[in-house]
Amino acid sequence: MPPAKKRRSVSPLLLINIGQLITLRSVSANAGPRRGPALKELAIITDAAVLCLGGKIVSVGPTKDALRDPWIKKHRKQIVEIDCARKVVTPGFVDSHTHPVFVSPRLVDFEKRIEGASYEQIAAAGGGIRSSLEAVRKATRSALVTKVDRVLRDMAAHGTTTVEAKSGYGLTLESELKSLEAIREAAVSWPGTVISTLLGAHVVPKEFQDCSQNYVDTVCLEMIPQAARRTLAQFVDVFCDKGAFTPEESEQVFTAARKNGLDVRAHMGQLSETALAPFLRFEPASFDHMDHVSDDDVAQLAKRDTVATLVPGANYFLGLRSYPDARRLIDAGVPVALATDYNPGTSPTISMPMAMSLACTHMEMTPAETLAAGTINGAWSLRVADRKGTIEPGKDADLAVFEVEDYREIPYWFGANHCTLTVLNGVIESRD
Ligand SMILES: [Zn+2]
Repeated sequence: MPPAKKRRSVSPLLLINIGQLITLRSVSANAGPRRGPALKELAIITDAAVLCLGGKIVSVGPTKDALRDPWIKKHRKQIVEIDCARKVVTPGFVDSHTHPVFVSPRLVDFEKRIEGASYEQIAAAGGGIRSSLEAVRKATRSALVTKVDRVLRDMAAHGTTTVEAKSGYGLTLESELKSLEAIREAAVSWPGTVISTLLGAHVVPKEFQDCSQNYVDTVCLEMIPQAARRTLAQFVDVFCDKGAFTPEESEQVFTAARKNGLDVRAHMGQLSETALAPFLRFEPASFDHMDHVSDDDVAQLAKRDTVATLVPGANYFLGLRSYPDARRLIDAGVPVALATDYNPGTSPTISMPMAMSLACTHMEMTPAETLAAGTINGAWSLRVADRKGTIEPGKDADLAVFEVEDYREIPYWFGANHCTLTVLNGVIESRD
């Protein structure tokens, strides 16, 4: 488990006069991630108030009830009160797929792609993931901490309160552990919540190009056991696709992860279709990307809690015409989450509202569905749904306030940030 946060004294916090409070409280009796019609049940309260104590939500309801509450009346002087002036409040976003540990943007790749090069051609010319490796290998841990810290703060300013952060731009034992240490160190000083993932199996580094099995052995026999022993990661991820790891190699990575007590998730179906059935025995928390997936696998996933995490920022930034078929997944009953896939090569955005906007305009998801996908289903994919992703008593005090009157404006005003205040485990971060 992650190290203890620096102790913060969190004042009692009361948000009042919320125009629309998007609670996402479950209204159906079905436990588990939201699927099908349940994905658009937002359980909105108008003229609402939320009381948070000790970093937890303790009550949710109409403002007039909150102001009549005897405990609140008695303690009003000690309570930090925020008048939301009819704005919209949502659960803090759960960005369940990010790659924040890198040094530089990949501007050459960006220009080459504009000139017509494909993802595979850029990788073959020495660009792509491999071009980020050298800088991360050379960087000091503290330089990486500074990078991750800045990203987490930017994310919070856009409404994100829980972040999954992957290693994966070092691809040596030392640099992968250093990357995970940097995530951990940045997480300690950030008031939000970070879930770490070891992505040693991101691509096969050049020095192992003709002997990928030797690299898989390094991941399975060194990186995973050490990351697990030092509790540096909760998840192990693998990029299973052409040009990355084969299904057989990916199964080896999953086997090692589970043997060492870590949960698994995978980049699947971004560039080509991979049969998912052989991986289900590992109970993956999430399959991410999912641009290419068979009908049989969709039917399998509809019966399980493995979340399909869609990352339309990557499709957008790569200039692709096609996007993951969210409608097909949702209508079949597959639980769908949305994430930024923040990374320097294919999705350099920290904005969950941008991911939501792309999902609305290119994936036929409704604004309501994108909100649930960016909060509670992201929380399910990180196995933190018991404390994240909805605004209900007992959950962590993770809230985002938007300077809009209607939640549909969050994905509507694309490219602008309307988040004015974020509450992360009860700690207020304001842009004002
Ligand atoms: Zn990714």
